[in-house]
Amino acid sequence: MMAASSAPNVPSHMKAWVYPEYGNPSQVLKLDDTVPLPQLKEDQVLIKVAAAALNPVDYVRLLGYMKAFDSPLPTTPGFDAAGVVVRVGNAVSKFKVGDQVYGDIIVGLSEPKSLGSLAEYTIAEEKLLCHKPRNLSFAEAASLPLAIGTAHGSLQRVGLTAGQSILVLGGGGGVGTLVIQLAKHVFGASKVAATCSSGKVEVLKKLGADVVIDYTKEKLEELPEKFDVVYDAVGEGERAEKAIKEGGKVMSIVYGARNSGNCMAYIMDVFEGAVLEKLGPYLESGKVKAVLDPKGPFPFSEAVQAFEHLITKRATGKIVIHPI
Ligand code: NDP
Repeated sequence: MMAASSAPNVPSHMKAWVYPEYGNPSQVLKLDDTVPLPQLKEDQVLIKVAAAALNPVDYVRLLGYMKAFDSPLPTTPGFDAAGVVVRVGNAVSKFKVGDQVYGDIIVGLSEPKSLGSLAEYTIAEEKLLCHKPRNLSFAEAASLPLAIGTAHGSLQRVGLTAGQSILVLGGGGGVGTLVIQLAKHVFGASKVAATCSSGKVEVLKKLGADVVIDYTKEKLEELPEKFDVVYDAVGEGERAEKAIKEGGKVMSIVYGARNSGNCMAYIMDVFEGAVLEKLGPYLESGKVKAVLDPKGPFPFSEAVQAFEHLITKRATGKIVIHPI
């Protein structure tokens, strides 16, 4: 298809991280500088990627656990991207060349894409993207889409309402840091409690957690207080159930969680730029903040090291790759 418009000097080939087979990142993930730029469909834009972020699903996919419904190999990983539009398809109306955008470029599509965001250029359907708030850096913007979409969608699904209390298990992670902030500032929770290890207690307090439980010192089962919602971003379903009030609910985003009785499992299936649009005012006012892991941002050349950090499951907030 011919693009409706294009920036000058877009090359025909680029550098991208690619895995030709499933396996551990250090063994299969390679930087390839001869990847052809993709052809645009009419509802897509071509983005010069400035920053990308990793999510646990990238690792799960890389290991081949999504093989049954994955795109054919080779694959460039990365769901989250922020960058500048350099080409637009004929049917695109919301964006023009030069716009700064961000989004989760894969979730919400019926089939996963083989070209993700760990590349100098990537493509995305316009419905997946949103204009980047001016106050956010590219690194901050890239950290948000998948995690904030998950946090927002799951809090909505569990029906958290103003005045209710919530306990977030895994408050220091990519999703947890956003659940704390959305519960407090968007959903109006009366009390937000969260668990983490000792080194993250101050970070969670700064994000607005009213009570921070250091799980190395206190046991969930022994907490004196019970909660309307317990949000499980760790995989502690049975323990989570012990912390809910009568009539309360457990929301789990962890793969394989129970989805019956008072336990709800959430898998993000639909995500469009509209969610980022809706949350824009909170991001622009600084009420909801991007939380970047202090070991990063990792430069583009260190994507394997970024994956190795993701695998430890010890990140604070999001692991970002920048600059690209
Ligand atoms: P992260 O890799 O960011 O989580 C790392 C965090 O988990 C660290 O801050 C760590 O803190 C914390 N953590 C680990 N163990 C515990 C524990 N026992 N108690 C409290 N905190 C703990 O992951 P994400 O936040 O991105 O994702 C969380 C989970 O949700 C993953 O399993 C992921 O696959 C899933 N997910 C599901 C989605 C869906 O659509 N259903 C979408 C996105 C994610 P510390 O070092 O302090 O222990």
